[in-house]
Formats: sequence, structure tokens, C-alpha cells
Amino acid sequence: MSRQINDVSDALIVIDEQGLIQRINPVAASLFGYACEELIGRMIRDILPPTRQNPSEEKGIVFEILNGRVESVYKKGLKKNGLSFPVDLFVVPNADGTYTCVVKDDTSRFFHEQIETMANVVLRRVLIGEKLEHFAAFILEQLREVFPFPLLWIGQYEKDEKGVLVLSSLGGLSQLAAPRTLFTHSDQAVHPAVLACERMETVSDEVADEHGRPYKMIAFPFLSKKAVVGVLTVLAPKEHMNHIILNRFENIALRLGMILQISEDQKFLRLLSTAISSAMNAVFITDQHGKIMWANEAFTRLTGYGFEEVVGRHPSFLYSGLQPPEFYKEMWSNIKAGRSWRGELVDRHKDGSLFTIEQMITPILDYEGRVTHYVAVYDDLTARKDAEGKIMHLSNYDQLTGLPNRSLFHEKLKQILLKAAKMNECVAVLFVDISNFNRVNDTLGHAAGDQILKLMADRILSCVTSKDWIARIDGDEFAVILRDVKQPDEIGDLAHQIIRRIQEPIKMDKDEIVLGGCAGIALFPYDTTDSEKLINYADMTLFKAKKAGPNSYFFFSQQLNNEIEERLKLEQDMRKALVQNEFFLNYQPQVDLKTGRVSGWEALVRWKHPQKGLIPPNLFISAAEDTGLIVPLFLFVLEEAVKQLKAWNKMGYRDMTMAVNVSSAQFEDIRLTENIQNILKKYRVKAKSIELELTESLLMKDVYETQQILTHLSDNGVRIAIDDFGTGYSSLNYLRRFPVNKLKIDRSFVKDIDTAKENIAIVKAIISLGHILGLEVVAEGVENAKQLHLLKRLDCDSIQGFFLGVPMSADDATLFLQKKNKAS
Ligand code: C2E
Ligand code: MG
Ligand code: MG
Repeated sequence: MSRQINDVSDALIVIDEQGLIQRINPVAASLFGYACEELIGRMIRDILPPTRQNPSEEKGIVFEILNGRVESVYKKGLKKNGLSFPVDLFVVPNADGTYTCVVKDDTSRFFHEQIETMANVVLRRVLIGEKLEHFAAFILEQLREVFPFPLLWIGQYEKDEKGVLVLSSLGGLSQLAAPRTLFTHSDQAVHPAVLACERMETVSDEVADEHGRPYKMIAFPFLSKKAVVGVLTVLAPKEHMNHIILNRFENIALRLGMILQISEDQKFLRLLSTAISSAMNAVFITDQHGKIMWANEAFTRLTGYGFEEVVGRHPSFLYSGLQPPEFYKEMWSNIKAGRSWRGELVDRHKDGSLFTIEQMITPILDYEGRVTHYVAVYDDLTARKDAEGKIMHLSNYDQLTGLPNRSLFHEKLKQILLKAAKMNECVAVLFVDISNFNRVNDTLGHAAGDQILKLMADRILSCVTSKDWIARIDGDEFAVILRDVKQPDEIGDLAHQIIRRIQEPIKMDKDEIVLGGCAGIALFPYDTTDSEKLINYADMTLFKAKKAGPNSYFFFSQQLNNEIEERLKLEQDMRKALVQNEFFLNYQPQVDLKTGRVSGWEALVRWKHPQKGLIPPNLFISAAEDTGLIVPLFLFVLEEAVKQLKAWNKMGYRDMTMAVNVSSAQFEDIRLTENIQNILKKYRVKAKSIELELTESLLMKDVYETQQILTHLSDNGVRIAIDDFGTGYSSLNYLRRFPVNKLKIDRSFVKDIDTAKENIAIVKAIISLGHILGLEVVAEGVENAKQLHLLKRLDCDSIQGFFLGVPMSADDATLFLQKKNKAS
């Protein structure tokens, strides 16, 4: 028998019914780390100890054998070195009452089973959202079943802290790595766990206990895709560690890394699915047949169907019937072929209402390129269309009056003209301007201005019928489109009526104000058939009406068009003229009636047009004012005049003024004062020798800014003269308010002074008025000796006119001076 058991390759142990080992073969002895002799006579429980579940059982397997439970016996063997290991046991009763135990080292199978179970549990826990810190203890318990080492612990890599935080530890030496301990890089000896995490590889180290017994400390990092997610550290006596065990631990770490990666993916997926669930856009997913598998909240909100109502259905229940079958055919053929599709369509809500969406369908393909799912994302365009509608309203309607604005007016006119052309109808476009509206804004403030504009809009509306059309096209400008006009009188009457209504007094807080209006009218198809031209013509005609003064209206005429075209040409020529130095100055002397000396000059601009020859200022000054060209022209005149005065001063002709004409339009130029001062400085000419000639009408406007500018100039020494005095409205109020130095009696009064008695009276009155106010008085347009003498008698200070000297070139003026004045 002994021979027999010694020869077999299986590990065999023969025991009696007390559990005493009677015989054992070398294979079995070495399995437990003993020599055969050492075990004979010992109890079987020394190497196959009782289970933990049944610790009181003295006899160990014998008891079980006797109770007929041999198959389910011990799974654990105990080696001489104290290590336990899983065994597979098979017991055969012998005829002599003894038992033969066939023992197999079951470590490998046990290991795999144990790890498999552990991995499955961990995976399950990961899938429900648990983290490493939650199941680290569990992993250690499972591992200890297979690897009963003195210390096993799991840590988490804290990258920011450059350390490893212990999550859980197990074993007799577990105090060496208590939970929440942080092993950091800064420790003098870097812990292998920290190194393992940093290097992303297994790191082992040798340590010894107080008895000098060598131990191995090995750290296995858990690697997920790109990062370290944890570390398992093992402390084991050196002799218990071999490459097989090392390998097994590495596999475990690898497996855990993969599972934890799933956890990361899982987290991300959860994030994604939350994002999609709560996305503003409706989303649904179908299987490859188009059956809805999932839909988000936005989808149920948009369609009115609950989640349960849509799952399992084909999305065709949303069809509105507004898209033709070809539409869907085209869509399906695209997505079935694996291509994304995008399109705008109208679907039907559960309540039957329609909504517009933009749909994007993306097929999801498997690795072989077959469609497995479709993802559809909706963009609800209904809300966007509403918003677009609002924007449309904002961009097409005037917010203040609620009337259509200029851009809609252009559109509308085009449409109306198209129809009118077909019906052979006449259409009138009427532009209406509220006269002097700027003054309302300036004096009463913008809130009152707005109020008045609304009122004006209402008043104009009250004049038209529902088939007419009205828009606000500019600050204080309105446009009316009159359809199907039969008689031109109709339009004239309407213009008249509108102006009358505008003129009706407006009650403000305390007082009433009265405004005026003008209108310009253009007719389709008589004036033009082009809508843009029609607008242009109405605008041009309004411009003419504005010039003519408040409460006038005009019809467009070809003559007006010609005038305007000429004016445009004039403007272009003037621009060129400024560059090409076609402007030059004439000087007309003013002579002191007491001394006979030249007391001053007036600079008068001339234009030598290359084709048209000499052009007098009254033909181009007003165009220069309208176009703003008056500003550069003025600068040219002022500089030339100042330069000339300086030259005369140098020749010894002093105590003369140089008068320059200034248009009212220039007072809108904020740099007027600065420009004048710059030129004076440049030629070092005294301000008091410069005289600005302004017209009465400018002062009549009584604008605060004008007063400011003039006061400023006057304070600096510049003289102010009122040109053409007596022709304006005879409000003398402004003479007190503005810093005036001189009055220039208009030539119309001087002209008949010798024949018309009332002219003498007027001139006399002006002269005495001027003197009372301390002003110098000059008479313009003196053409003969008689006039001169009369004016002298009336105590006029000085005169200007052809009789003494016509406007002349600088050279002639110098000769004139040499005759009349003595150089000093
Ligand atoms: P104004 O300022 O009243 O200038 C006097 C005008 O009367 C000048 O006409 C001058 O030639 C003319 N005149 C002078 N003496 C007599 C006379 O005895 N009999 C008659 N019948 N006419 C006389 P001009 O040069 O054609 O200028 C016309 C207007 O053009 C000027 O009237 C002035 O308002 C304007 N103007 C001339 N130059 C300028 C300028 O540089 N800037 C501006 N803004 N306006 C200018
Ligand atoms: Mg003048
Ligand atoms: Mg004048």
C-alpha cells in the first residue's frame, strides 16, 4: 500500500477514523511544506483545519466523513509556513476502516473563481454609481481569502497632493496603513504606492521587520484609459511572494482598472443622458426600424404626448399632412443610407395644433456600418418664428407712433405700384414735414416732442381713409400713399387739410403752441413709374416746400427736377472748384462820411467757372449752404481776406475793418469759433479788425447756441454787423440781446432814398435807432452823389456802394487805398 501511495502523482494521505495520519506520500507532504516523517502520527486537522463556520469541530474532516458529507469538505489547507491555501479533497473509505484522502492544490481554480466573483460584485456596485472608496474594503476581504498576507491596502491617487490616500486596509499589520493616511511624495522615503501611481507601473520594495525578516512591499496601480484611478499595496514575507503571485496581483489591478474605467464612462454617460434629457431641444431615439425607444422631456413638452405614449411607436403619428409623401421618402432614403438629414417641417401636436420644427436626424452605425438607431433632434421654430415676427415688427414699425417706418414704406409702395400698374390706377405719394419741429424739441424737451409727434400722427391719420397708407419716414416727416386717385384736386385738398390740421393749436401744460407743416407731392404714373424715383421726387418737392416756408405744398414738376439736377451739378462743380482754386475775392470799400477815408472793406466771393465764366455769389451761396460746402468756402474767404488785410497793414494802411459774410447755416458748425481764432492767430491779425456780417433772419431765429457763439466771438474782440438791415421781420428785440456793433442799411432803402419819402423816414429811423443803441451805421448800395449827400445829412457814419467803389480785385483795391488813405 505504502508503495502504492508513494508512486502516484496525486497527493494521498491515509488517516484512521480519529483523524490521525497513518501514512502520507511525498507529493502530499511537500504540498503542505513538510517531510513525510514530520506528518505521520499527527492529526489531519493540523494541515486541513476546521472551517471557520465550524470551528468547534475537533475532528475536522473525520467528522464530516462520518456524517457522509465528504464531497463538501474542506477547501482549505494549511502549510507548514502558516499559509493557507485552497484544496480540492476527495475521500475514499478503505476496507480496513481507514480513509484515503486525495488532496489537490486548488489555488489556481479558487483564485480565478474568487477574483471572478469579486470582479462581478465590484462591477455591479460601479454600475449603480458606487466609488472605489465604497467597495475597497470588499475587494480586500475577497483578496485576503486567496492571499492571507499581513497587509493589503487600497489607496486613491491624489494627484494635486502628489500622494496616495489610504481608503481601506486589512491584515495583521493593517495599522501600518490606517484608512485616511496620506502617503505623499514629500516623505523622505517615497512610498512605493506613490511611485507606482506616478510611474503608472508596479513598484516593489524590500523591508525588514524587527527580527530582520525580509518582506516585500509591492504596489500595483489601477490604470484606466489614461489615468491612475487607485493603487493596491501588498506587504508579504519575501518567501511567500513569487512571480506567479505577482502576476496574479497585476491581473487583479488590471481588471479593477478596467472596471473603474467603466465607472468613469458611466459617469460621463450619466452626464450626457442628463444633458439630453433636460435639453431644451426635443430629442428622441429610435431603433433601426424607426420605432421610438426613448424621448426626452422637451419632446413630450413639444408634442403633448407622454413618454409612454410615444415609446414603441413610429414617429409618423406626428405627421401633419403638410409635407408631401416625397418629403418623407427623401428623408428616409437619406438616413437609411447612413447619412444625416436636416429639414424644416410642420408637425401636429397632440391637441391638433401645428408647430414648425427644424429636424436633424443622425443615424447611428455599428462597426460594420449598419444602422442600429436613429437620433432625432428637434429645434422648435415656432418660438423662433414668433421672435422673428417681433423683430420684423421692430424693424418695420416706428415704436413711437406705431406707424410703418421708412423701410416698410418703401416695400409697401413697391407692392401698391405693381397693383396700380395692373389696374391702371393713379397713386400719389405725399411727404409731410412738421415745420420747425426741432425748436419744439429744443425748447420743450424730447418727451413733449414725442407727445406732439404722436398727436401729429393721429391728426394726419384722421385726414386719410382706410385705403390710404401712412408711414413715419423720418424724425418729423410722414408719408401718405393715396391709392386710386381720380382727380389731382383730391390730393391738393388732402395736403391742404393735413396742413390745416397740423396748424391746429396744441394745448401744453400752461400755454398753447401752434406748428406748421409743408408737403411735397409726386404722382404715379405721371411723374415716374419707378417707386424709388417717386419717393425721391416727393422728397425733393418737400424740400422745395420747406424752403418756401411753413404751410406750403407743391406738386412735383419736371422743372423742379431740372432745378434739382442743376443743383446737383452745381454742387459737384463747387467741390471741384474748391480744390482747383476757382474761387477768389473782390473787395468793396466802405468810406467814412466824415473823413472820406476808407474805414473798411467787405470781402465778396467770386467763382470763375472754367466753362460758365464768372458766377455771382447769389447763384451758388444757397447751394453751398444746403450742401455744407459753405464751411470750407467760408474758411477760404476768411483766410484770403485776413491775408489781404495783413498785407495792407504791412503797407501802412491800418485802422480798417475787413467784413466777411457768414451764413446762418454755418452756426451749426461747432468749430466756427475755433476756426476763426486759428486764422486770426495764424496771420497775427487783431480780432477787432474782423467784422462778421450776419443776416437778420439768423438772429430772428433767436437760437440759444447762436447767442452763445456770437457772445464768445464778441468777447474775443470780433465785430458783428447786421447785413441787409431792415429787410427782416422788424423785431428789434435781438439788437439788445446780441452783441452787435454795426447796422448795414439794406440797399433797397437807399435805392429810392432821393425820391420816396417813406424811405428817407426809414433810413433816418434806422440811423437814429443805431446811434441810440451805440451802433455804427453803414448804408449799402450808394450809387450816386445825391444819395451820398442825403445820407451824410442824416448822420450816417459810412457808406458802401458803386458810387465810391465797386467790388474790385486785391490789386485794384490797393491802388484805391493809395488814392484815398494815407499810409502811416
Ligand atoms: P451782401 O453781403 O449784401 O453784399 C453786397 C452785395 O451788394 C454785393 O453783391 C455787392 O456787389 C452788391 N453791391 C454793392 N454796392 C452796390 C451798389 O451800389 N448797387 C448794387 N446794385 N449792388 C451793390 P454780390 O457780391 O453779388 O453778393 C451778393 C450776396 O452774396 C452778398 O450780399 C452776400 O450776402 C453774399 N455773399 C457774397 N460773398 C459771400 C461770402 O463769401 N459768403 C457768404 N456767406 N455770402 C456771400
Ligand atoms: Mg454782406
Ligand atoms: Mg448786404
